[in-house]
Amino acid sequence: MLFSDINGIKKRKIVLLPHNNPDGDALGSSLALLFYFRKLKHDVDLISPTEYSESFQWLPGSKDILVLSEKTQSLVKNKIINSDYIFFVDFNNLSRIKDIKNFLSHSKAKKILIDHHPFPFFFDFMFSDPSVSATSVLVFRFISDMNNLSKIDIKIATCLYVGLITDTGFFRFPSVTSETHFIAGKLIEKGIDINHIHDHLQEKYNENRLKLLSKALKKLKVIKKYRTVYTSINASDINFYSYKQGDTEGIITYGLGIKNIILSVFFFEEKEKYPIKISFRSKGNFDVNLFARKHFRGGGHKNASGGILEKSLSETIQYFLNIIPFYL
Ligand code: 5GP
Ligand code: MN
Repeated sequence: MLFSDINGIKKRKIVLLPHNNPDGDALGSSLALLFYFRKLKHDVDLISPTEYSESFQWLPGSKDILVLSEKTQSLVKNKIINSDYIFFVDFNNLSRIKDIKNFLSHSKAKKILIDHHPFPFFFDFMFSDPSVSATSVLVFRFISDMNNLSKIDIKIATCLYVGLITDTGFFRFPSVTSETHFIAGKLIEKGIDINHIHDHLQEKYNENRLKLLSKALKKLKVIKKYRTVYTSINASDINFYSYKQGDTEGIITYGLGIKNIILSVFFFEEKEKYPIKISFRSKGNFDVNLFARKHFRGGGHKNASGGILEKSLSETIQYFLNIIPFYL
């Protein structure tokens, strides 16, 4: 019914919602859907609950993203209320769309989840598969299921490819399967410029971002006994290095590269004092999704998760240090 309606001739109002601070997969998946639904002649809006990293501002269609702010709030509310369909892209917790969640109850739109996190919430339609490496895989399947693969052009392919590589750590994570590579192959056949994509994602840092990384690496603490490593960035680091959204991306992965380490944690004091945003990455069987859910009001995937705590940075670190002996 959804497919026939969306494939039909009636023009529909569609809103695409990625999560806050959207990553490559959330943005890539929603931008791909934006182009796709435009091809089907629908009236589509992509609304981001917050700003996103500079490293994604080159993505095709990114200029069309409507970012929620005080200025755009009533426009966003209007779009949500008057839409026929709302797609929730790459998240499973309404806390991740900020104030937009307050507008949903006013909307009669059919709600569609397209996401790969465990414990999905149920809407009118659900495209959920926690076994896949990226939501972009599900967007590819969605377009295939509508028998519209020919509609995947170079822009859609570029966006989906960005989703694939960013959520798989460039095809490294255990979630990568032959399907991930099959889809990548199909996207490459559409003529995407892989070198150009990697160049944008990995080789266009500003100097401050690298210095912030260096600061975090200097503060890195290794607890051999618990095979754990952690580091932090505080509010004064942020001011000193003129932090921009996304600049801390990737800091957490370095610690995980140390021999025998299975848990890497990053504490981020984005604003003076509260709350602290915490990121977790693990190797093997240590389930940081459950860990973040239980102790940090968060969640995510088995090997990559995040959460927040209403404590100061030092209290948050101490809280973590008190818990970790019970786990590892
Ligand atoms: P990151 O550490 O890059 O912010 O997040 C890693 C993963 O953890 C994300 O893909 C997302 O699935 C999940 N995640 C991060 N922060 C939160 C949070 O506050 N709540 C929930 N439920 N999941 C989060
Ligand atoms: Mn994802």
